[in-house]
Amino acid sequence: NGSRGHIAHADATASNGGHALSEVVPKKKKVVLLGTGWAGMSFLKSLNNPTYEVEVVSPRNFFVFTPLLPSVTCGKVEARSIAEPIRNIIRKKNVDISFSEAECVKIDPQNKKIYCRATIDNHSKGEEEFAVDYDYLIIAVGAQVNTFNTPGVMENCHFLKEIDDAQKIRKNVIESFEKACLPSLSDEERKKILHFVIVGGGPTGVEFAAELHDFVNEDVVKLYPKVKDLVKITLLEATDHILNMFDKRITNFAENKFGREGIDVKLGSMVTGINENEISTKTRGNGKTTSTPYGMVLWSTGIGPRPLIKEFMKQIGQGNRRALATDEWLRVEGIDNVYALGDCATINQRKVMEDIAEIFKKADKDNSGTLTVKEFQETLDDICERYPQVELYLKNKQKRNIVDLVKEAKGDAAKESKEVNIEEFKAALSEVDSQMKNLPATAQVANQQGAYLAKCFNRMEECEKNPEGPPRFRGTGRHRFHPFRYRHLGQFAPLGGEQTAAQLPGDWVSIGHSSQWLWYSVYASKQVSWRTRALVVSDWLRRFIFGRDTSG
Ligand code: FAD
Ligand code: MG
Ligand code: MG
Ligand code: MG
Ligand code: MG
Repeated sequence: NGSRGHIAHADATASNGGHALSEVVPKKKKVVLLGTGWAGMSFLKSLNNPTYEVEVVSPRNFFVFTPLLPSVTCGKVEARSIAEPIRNIIRKKNVDISFSEAECVKIDPQNKKIYCRATIDNHSKGEEEFAVDYDYLIIAVGAQVNTFNTPGVMENCHFLKEIDDAQKIRKNVIESFEKACLPSLSDEERKKILHFVIVGGGPTGVEFAAELHDFVNEDVVKLYPKVKDLVKITLLEATDHILNMFDKRITNFAENKFGREGIDVKLGSMVTGINENEISTKTRGNGKTTSTPYGMVLWSTGIGPRPLIKEFMKQIGQGNRRALATDEWLRVEGIDNVYALGDCATINQRKVMEDIAEIFKKADKDNSGTLTVKEFQETLDDICERYPQVELYLKNKQKRNIVDLVKEAKGDAAKESKEVNIEEFKAALSEVDSQMKNLPATAQVANQQGAYLAKCFNRMEECEKNPEGPPRFRGTGRHRFHPFRYRHLGQFAPLGGEQTAAQLPGDWVSIGHSSQWLWYSVYASKQVSWRTRALVVSDWLRRFIFGRDTSG
């Protein structure tokens, strides 16, 4: 169907001019990309197939290096240093790319059209609305904060998702100290103003708590000596531990470090509501509710789908999910020529048990109804590629291959017969699908998906010959097209005081000053341009030498 689309375009007379030329030169295929975040930027950077015409639509004309957003909140890094104008990225490309500063408000997959509303601040004009046709649509709009419908959160909390948020937080932190220094206040009032509450003990909440604590210790003590002892930082976490997604050693280290430093970590604490003055929490277990006066709250408890995505999922029958479902090639399930990646999407990995009969049939090359060791070995790579959970399962079970698994499942019977029938095969693999995990909503995933999808687009002709992606089993030679495969490179949790926890693949954990240096070098090298790299590094140096800038 893709190639038919191609011919249709070659036939259509181009609207611009209608010269003879347009009948000869096939019209470029139009790719519309929604979003200029990690996924979108990474797609654009890796795309190099000049047969496309790309239109980028995003309400934000710059990319944000989100891992450094927490550093902006207390002035370690300047906001502008972590933003790269998207036009800087596209002007360097050999591909025809245009940009519109607008948000997509509706997707119409039947007519291959999206509807947009310009977001440029221009009060003299009404809202500009327009539609864009596409041949391929790439949805990379990210996600939004999730308040879990907790009353008062939207009105009273800060969030940390965009550059504006980080700048607002920074201004608010500094203003809090200025306010607390005013002569007319009682100590009670000063304490309230200087009570900083962070909701959510994930990496963002923890890093902000650490940044704030450093700021107080390194700068506030010198600049606001009168009020330094009235500062309180509280971290509320609903589950039993902070930094859940990390190794236990890191969680323990962080909880102990925060404890020593006087950051009040309250575990099992659910926020039930927030008003202008107080935050109410319920303690898990005893169900006790408490209300505490606060000066500032950062809400950082996770993400949910944007309205555009919610609406689109309804439209295409995906119902009430947390993110758009795609297959392993990042194609939105159930509709043609629409791709989704990053935080707005999740991959629906195929289950082995659903395909088991087919896998068995393909592996059984001689149609004997049983599999030999040789037949197993010949198909294992393909099975592992199509179903990554198999590889994980083998690794966790410390088995080299499926043959060993089957042997284990068969027990003593294995000694007698050398071959395996379908029932035995099923029994051996019955637990495999329990290894499937959704990929985390991280920049690392979004970045790799963007690069992967660009590679697919760079080789689209080949891919269209294999519309189902790679055939399940060998024999198609060089046209095989791999499904997306995530490579986890590890993750960091900065904990303040120039100490960072690093968890690298293979459960390698390192915590302390040396990982902080690793953190500096990784984040300097991951910058999208030499310009932002230079800015970020000079911000770090400036802070080491002169301390933070506290003009609010
Ligand atoms: P985003 O980067 O959020 O980009 C979405 C884009 O879509 C934006 O340009 C937005 O303006 C645009 N958009 C929104 N609505 C529309 C619309 N209707 N139409 C068109 N465009 C639209 N991950 C890590 O791996 N490591 C980290 O250290 C890390 N630290 C983080 C720290 C913070 C404070 C935050 C908030 C996130 C952090 N993350 C980190 C997570 C990471 O930022 C996200 O997973 C990543 O940004 C997801 O990329 P994305 O492209 O899907 O979405
Ligand atoms: Mg994006
Ligand atoms: Mg981003
Ligand atoms: Mg995702
Ligand atoms: Mg056989």
